[in-house]
Amino acid sequence: MPQVILKSGRQKSLLRRHPWVFSGAVEKVEGDPGPGETVEVLSHEGEFLCRAAYSPSSQIALRAWTFDAGEEVGPEFFRSRLEQAIGFRAPFLKLSDGACRLVNAESDGLPGVIVDRYAGFLVGQFLSAGSERHRGEIVSQLFQMLSPVGVYERSDADVRLKEGLEPRSGHLLGEPPPPLLVIREKTCRFLVDIEHGQKTGFYLDQADNRAMLAGYAEGAEVLNGFSYTGGFAIHALKAGAGRVTNIDSSPAALALATRNRELNGIDERGLENIEGDVFQVLRRFRDSRRTFDLIVLDPPKFVESQSRLSRGSRGYKDINLLAFKLLRPGGVLFTFSCSGLVGPDLFQMIVAAAALDAGRNAQIIRVLTQGPDHPTALHFPEGAYLKGFICRAA
Ligand code: SAH
Repeated sequence: MPQVILKSGRQKSLLRRHPWVFSGAVEKVEGDPGPGETVEVLSHEGEFLCRAAYSPSSQIALRAWTFDAGEEVGPEFFRSRLEQAIGFRAPFLKLSDGACRLVNAESDGLPGVIVDRYAGFLVGQFLSAGSERHRGEIVSQLFQMLSPVGVYERSDADVRLKEGLEPRSGHLLGEPPPPLLVIREKTCRFLVDIEHGQKTGFYLDQADNRAMLAGYAEGAEVLNGFSYTGGFAIHALKAGAGRVTNIDSSPAALALATRNRELNGIDERGLENIEGDVFQVLRRFRDSRRTFDLIVLDPPKFVESQSRLSRGSRGYKDINLLAFKLLRPGGVLFTFSCSGLVGPDLFQMIVAAAALDAGRNAQIIRVLTQGPDHPTALHFPEGAYLKGFICRAA
């Protein structure tokens, strides 16, 4: 097996079981491994550290598969990792029309591998050179274990380019998916387009937080910023919200939001969809003095890299400032950031600065994160990317 030897002292993070090694820590590559090939990683002193996938074009040159010198990275390895990940999700699997993440990459010991389940279908993403190399094995094992109706691939994420991989999507096994699947989430049902929707089709990480909104929704006039297909909106309306206004820049997402309203038996007067830029629409509402009882802000990742930190932080501050201006006295704000580089402390500082500039006193009444089907391995803090606050403004 090819070997990668690290520079002196650079084994520390692997010894703590963090799964990544950056290219700057590599001293020598022996045996000419190809992209995604399994290599043995050794310290400068020659001690075994892990078996990892090698990615020559990525800044993350190595992603550890196993820290156990006795464990081969073959079919048995993938079977046991997949069985464990799926076993942990047993409670989620009981509902035949439910949806959940089955494999959460590094945090489930399978770097680069994402598997989401939507009713009878599985959607896979293979985002690293190592996961790409073992894709066939992983897909066929999943098929045997879960007997899904079909397996579809959505490896069309930009991060693949960093790994030297082209984006790819398409039908892999079993039946091809219908144009729209129906999933159930608590009291709501949603249409999911796994071929063309964002990510793998739906933002499963927000499932618990959407359900949490129900507790604040009765009789409320709600603004749902960055609505996608209306997940938060439908939960609010099912829980008795007076009216919800969705804002999203994607017409396809809003078209599905309308169909989701119909699917859930909600009258058309309950939901207004505005196609546009949240920043601009909120400014317009501020200028026309429109106000709301409950506001949700669930923007896309504003901070993609360290160099975007201050610009992205300003984006979060701007939308939160506007939201505090639009909130009625006693109103509630659900505000999120899915930028891993914005930690919870920084996010709180941003939201606090926004409230201050809006002239509002506000409290955090609950801290939110991604759902339990998106676990974070303790030794992989990068896995905890989603943070949110429920704030009440005086
Ligand atoms: N809350 C949603 C998920 C939101 S994902 C849910 O529960 O399903 C972020 C959404 O923001 C995407 O639908 C994307 O189309 C939209 N978006 C991105 N930038 C935007 C902008 N500047 N203005 C409005 N919508 C935007």
